[in-house]
This record gives sequence, C-alpha cells and structure tokens, in this order.
Amino acid sequence: MRQNQENPVNVDPAEINKFSEQAAHWWDREGALKPLHQINPLRLNFIDEHSPLAGKAVLDVGCGGGILSESMALRGAAVTAIDMAEAPLNVARLHALESAVEIDYRQITAEALAQQSPGKWDVVTCMELLEHVPDPSSMVRACSDMVRPGGAVYFSTINRNPKAFMLAIVGAEYVLGLLPKGTHQYEKFIRPSELAQWAESAALKIEQLIGLHYNPIWQSCRLDAGLDVNYIMRTTKIMS
Ligand code: SAH
Repeated sequence: MRQNQENPVNVDPAEINKFSEQAAHWWDREGALKPLHQINPLRLNFIDEHSPLAGKAVLDVGCGGGILSESMALRGAAVTAIDMAEAPLNVARLHALESAVEIDYRQITAEALAQQSPGKWDVVTCMELLEHVPDPSSMVRACSDMVRPGGAVYFSTINRNPKAFMLAIVGAEYVLGLLPKGTHQYEKFIRPSELAQWAESAALKIEQLIGLHYNPIWQSCRLDAGLDVNYIMRTTKIMS
C-alpha cells in the first residue's frame, strides 16, 4: 500500500465523521445530499452508455449510502461497494434490502482492497470522493489496480479555480444551503490536469473529460464541454 506520512491509511477521520452525520438523511431526496440524487441519473446514464452495465462486475469506491451503487445494480451490474464510514454503509445495506437489490457493501480502504483483489472488476467508479481524501493520487492508483486491463475507471470531482469556489462552496453551501456548510474545502479541489497526471502515471488512459453542470437555481444538470466546476473523467486501463 502507498502510504502517506501523516495518514498511514489514506482516510481523513473528519471527513468520515462529516458523512456519518448525514447517514440518516442519505436517501432523503429533499435533504442534505439532494444534489447527489439530482445528478445521479445523468452520471448513471453516462457510465451505462460507455460501459454497458448489465452483467458487469462493478466496484463503487466511496459509495456512501449507495445512491450510485444501487442504481448500477438495478441496471444489471454485480456491484461491490466500499466506504470507510460505517453509518452510511449501514443505511446503504438497509436500503438495498428495501429495494430488493443485492450489493456487497464493505468497509475497507481502496488501497487495502487493491492488495486483496487486483484486476477483479470490469468497471470502477470513484465519484465525488477524491476531494475528500488526504492523498487522492494514491486512491487513483488503487482504482487502477482494481480494474482489469481494458476495463473502465470513472472519476468525478470539483475543479479548483475562483468560479468553482464561488459556485461549489459560497453558492451551494452558504447562499443556497444546498449542501451542509463545510462539505467541501477549496484547497482539496482538483484540477483536471492534476487528475490527468495521476491517472496517466497509474496506467489509465484518459478517454474523455466532460463537465457536469449543476444549475443550483433551477436544480437541473447536464453534461457539456466546460470543466470549470464539476467534471467527470472517463479512463480505461492500459493493457499490459
Ligand atoms: N460516491 C457517492 C458518495 C459521495 S460522498 C456518490 O457520489 O453518491 C463521499 C463519500 O466518500 C462518503 O460516503 C465518505 O464516507 C466517503 N469517503 C471519504 N473518505 C474516504 C476514504 N478514504 N475511503 C473510502 N471512502 C471515503
């Protein structure tokens, strides 16, 4: 496992606490994590279009309460989903029972699972997570290690620039109250060039970078070329 000097495991306990506090509200479509519900159909369709999910072995890294994991399972994927926060995982397990979908939810770091099960999955998703971990490059490498050669890895995160600060923090957390205050820290946002470098050095070929535009006034979203704020990077694992 790659280790960060200050964090022997690549987990920030403050982040885990923050998401644990939201656990009970995870599936409240009008609650604290409403934007995740609103963007889910768009990202799900994007993934399904490029990596048809039916019959695929999929790993969802940083799954939280399972919004994306469940929707991928409902499209026919065999989903394993991991997170380091116990309370959201428990919510995810209960919700899967209610939805009658089978998902293997596990509390384990990406780095540890990469050691146990290298190259095991056809598709790995790592959405809205990299900006919450101490060493995102280590997580990118772990995701790459877990996908089979030729398989796909999807990342989504938030760009770091003044516009992203204004929209994703000031607008979403303080003006409109769409997300709890303190959800995001500006300095942990990630430029596409940084993510591209981590991906390439982990043997992931960048296939596509696309902006995920969330309009907080209309609360609508769409995919398009602008990468200023939220974006998705689609990669494939280089055949060795
Ligand atoms: N990927 C989900 C949830 C995003 S919220 C979605 O897009 O719907 C971020 C999630 O990452 C939280 O559930 C949090 O507990 C989890 N997380 C934070 N640090 C983590 C780490 N180091 N390893 C695994 N999960 C982590």
